[in-house]
Amino acid sequence: MELWFTEKQTENFGITMKVKETYVSEKTDFQDLAMVKTEEFGNMLLLDGMVMTTEKDEFVYHEMVAHPVLYTHPNPEQVLVVGGGDGGVIREVLKHPQVKKAVLVDIDGKVIEYSKKYLPSIAGGLEDPRVEVLVNDGFMHIHDHKNTYDVIMVDSTEPVGPAANLFTRGFYQGIYEALKEDGIFVAQTDNPWFKADLIQSVNKDVKEVFPIVRVYAANIPTYPSGLWTFTLGSKKYDPLEVDESSIPEIDTKYYTPRLHKAAFVLPKFVEDLIK
Ligand code: SAM
Repeated sequence: MELWFTEKQTENFGITMKVKETYVSEKTDFQDLAMVKTEEFGNMLLLDGMVMTTEKDEFVYHEMVAHPVLYTHPNPEQVLVVGGGDGGVIREVLKHPQVKKAVLVDIDGKVIEYSKKYLPSIAGGLEDPRVEVLVNDGFMHIHDHKNTYDVIMVDSTEPVGPAANLFTRGFYQGIYEALKEDGIFVAQTDNPWFKADLIQSVNKDVKEVFPIVRVYAANIPTYPSGLWTFTLGSKKYDPLEVDESSIPEIDTKYYTPRLHKAAFVLPKFVEDLIK
């Protein structure tokens, strides 16, 4: 019998994949977690029925969360990842030799545990001595750490369930205060086809808190619509003023020094959302 998984984005549209095997399907304290093997994209983590990451296309998302901010900040030593329990963003952060400490705060220890077991190529960096892994609410962690981080990356689930308060103005204000005086943050902000309202409201909130706000996009085939956005807020450094020739060629599959500024060139209908 063939088994197919569909992530419904609306009542009338979804993304469908053929599933070969289900390794895990359980309710954690925070969400429904499944780890499955797909025919096309390798092992895949699902939370509350939504695709979080797959072995085949994870590199796009994780590189594009980490490198644009880390190559905009001249000396990112203290880094925080909120969410990101699969370890993909941490793996990319560790490619930056200036990073002295990377803290990962995910609310759900089960995501970390199963990612280590079923997504080892993604989660391997979580064992690195520069990394501290905390199982905690990112909102609380931010509010308990003032003036601490150079760079904060928000790799959260969508704004339902445990991540609902990670898409609020109060959270962005907390991030501003948790950053040092020249700090930068970035958050994944979903897709412009079905979540235009979310991109607009995040953009408005972040503009009320940070003097420099930029949005960029990347192509991720297993996320609804395939076009994903990221919103960056910065106290001092502008990613568009980075000298691309100063960015080294590192071991990546999507991000390059040429793409650093190009990713911020948006289709007109996305530009119109954030005017
Ligand atoms: N890349 C994915 C996407 O955009 O669909 C998200 C990756 S997934 C690893 C996001 C993580 O955020 C989950 O492990 C979840 O447990 C975590 N998370 C959700 N709410 C959180 C909160 N309030 N504090 C910390 N982590 C949270």
